[in-house]
This record gives sequence, structure tokens and C-alpha cells, in this order.
Amino acid sequence: MTSSRPFNFAPGPATLPEPVLRQVAEEMLDWHGSGMSVMEMSHRGKEFVSIAERAEADLRELLAVPANFRILFMQGGGLGENAIVPMNLSRGGKVDVVITGSWSRKSAAEARRYADVQIAADIGKTGVIPRDWQLRDDAAYLHLCTNETIDGVEFHDLPQSANGVPLVIDISSHMLSRPIDWSRVGLAFGGAQKNVGPAGLTMVFVREDLLGRALDICPSAFNYETVAAHQSMFNTPPTFAIYVAGLVFQWVKGFEYAGLRGLAAIERQNIDKARLLYEALDASSLYENRVDPSCRSRMNVPFFLKNEALNEVFLADAKAAGLLQLKGHKSVGGMRASIYNAMPLAGVQALVSFLKTFEARHG
Ligand SMILES: *Cc1c(COP(=O)(O)O)cnc(C)c1O
Repeated sequence: MTSSRPFNFAPGPATLPEPVLRQVAEEMLDWHGSGMSVMEMSHRGKEFVSIAERAEADLRELLAVPANFRILFMQGGGLGENAIVPMNLSRGGKVDVVITGSWSRKSAAEARRYADVQIAADIGKTGVIPRDWQLRDDAAYLHLCTNETIDGVEFHDLPQSANGVPLVIDISSHMLSRPIDWSRVGLAFGGAQKNVGPAGLTMVFVREDLLGRALDICPSAFNYETVAAHQSMFNTPPTFAIYVAGLVFQWVKGFEYAGLRGLAAIERQNIDKARLLYEALDASSLYENRVDPSCRSRMNVPFFLKNEALNEVFLADAKAAGLLQLKGHKSVGGMRASIYNAMPLAGVQALVSFLKTFEARHG
């Protein structure tokens, strides 16, 4: 099926796989002969329970989530988790945070309201993840943002905890783009709207031994132990978002690329897309990416035009060429191409060809 839709490089809410959008449209008025839209179903009815159970099982399979981790479907987004995590895990004690960009900085600031936060290391403006971390052995957890959506900085390997302190990772903008080494993780969280589905759903993967530590002030609906005990149905979950995310999981499971299938195929395509784009930027004398190659994000590629006076015309020409939402985050300026799972290789090829044409005309 060929599409006439433009390529959408939005950072989030972001582009979704077209087959998923088509299926949602087809099932909108009557889900599987139930006579109801998924939006109109009881979250406790057998139809929706089957949707939620399949979504969770598919997600567990795709990411090879071990049996001692619970998967929670919650609300509140990544920013909500910045408070929900310390309320559940810090016991009011110590939390170490490595700052690699805007989102980990926000996480540290929010956690300060609940815990004694120490900045273990700070990337500053260096563009490279610092090596030396000041870690406390008695910290309740160490927080990292493993893909900084605004700054385009990604951890390509998780650190091994030397001191047994649980690792908490914000995976909002690269969840399901690559496998996760769960042996190094205590808790992972992420909002759906970057790489997984519509806004409104937040996924939490929590190791069972970390349940039951919540502060008294933690709202019941945000208490991981309570949510886990009710299979994510303590209160009404974001049903429609769970349904669409479930369709995305099925799409990923069936995804084929370079002789691979499923998450391995998705990851391989993400590697190829990112390489294509970074190579084009590095080869250019008009554009530049300022992140060290050792930690460049496969998902979010910020870049700057060396002649900033061209920014407006760049965006207008890109839009006319069917390349949408390339404007960088207001805090850093420039451009950013978010190339999540649902961005096909053809989208990145179209962007690269536009970059070259634009440079030839204006460079
Ligand atoms: C988008 C994002 C958030 C915030 O998500 P909200 O759903 O808007 O609260 C947090 N962390 C990262 C890494 C993000 O990309």
C-alpha cells in the first residue's frame, strides 16, 4: 500500500505506523463485532480485558521482560513519573542522578521535592556522556534518562551497578527501539506518545522487590504496589491508548527488515536510518550535529544550520517537500528530526535528499 501522507518528524506526539492507523479507523465503530468502539467499553469487560492482556503479553515478549518484573499501564506521562518514582522508591532518602540533558535535569529537580538528590555527573555542554560519576552506596536508586529527546544523547549500553543500587531509567523516547538489558535495571518508565502509541498511556516496568516502598503521601492511583495488585485496573486505565499501543506491538512483532523480524528488524532499521542521517549531516558544510558519535541518539537527531538566517526558509521548504515538524526544541533552537520506529527508511532517505538539495541551493 503506498501512502500519500507526508513524513512527520515530530518528537512526540509522533508519527504512528500507517497500518495501525488504518486498522484503528476500520475498528472505530465496531470492535470485532462487539457493537462498541473500544472507547465505549468497560475496562473490566471481557473485550477490553482481552485487549489489555494481549498488549501486556506482546510487550513482555517483544522486550523479553523477565518474570520478576511487573508491567504497569498508568497515566501521568514521563513528567508524572518524575514525582511518582521518588514517591515509590526513595523512602525519602538519597537519589543520585546523572544529567545528560533536559529530561534528566527535570527529573532531578522534581525528585528534590521528595528526596536528597545528588547530581552524580553532568554533561553540561560537552556533548559527551561523562565518565566519572559520584555515586553513593546508600542511594535508594540511580536515575538516568537513556535517550534525551531534546539533546539527542543516548546511552548505547547501560552501566553495570557496582554498588547494587537499583537503576531507574527514563526510556520515554526510545522504548521499543532496541532491546533492554534487564539485568541492569530496577525500574524503567516511559510515556507512549514518542515511540509506542497515543499520549495518555505511561508504561512502568518495575522489579518486584522494589514494590511496597511507597511514601505515605503517594496517591493510591500512583502507588506501584497497588496498581500491580489490580493488574493496572485500580482506576480506569487509558483504554483507547492501550488498545492503539497494543496494535503497535503487533505491528512491531510482524515487522520485517533485512531478513530479520520483530524487534531485531526494527532495531536494524533504526541503526540504518540513523547512520544515513548522521553521515549526511557530517558530510555537509551547512548542517552540524554537536553530539559525540559515541552517544548520538538513534531516535532524535538535532542539527543546526550554520547560517541561522536560513532556518525559516528551511522549515518552509521542508514542509512544501512533505517533511513535517522538523523545528528543534525551543530551548536549543535549530532543527531536530525524530526518526522513531514508525518512520520508514524512505522518510529518512527523503529527508537526506532534501538536505542535499537545500544545501546546493543555499549553502
Ligand atoms: C517526552 C518526555 C518526557 C515527558 O513526557 P510527558 O508525557 O510529556 O510527561 C519525559 N522524559 C523523556 C525522555 C521524554 O522524551
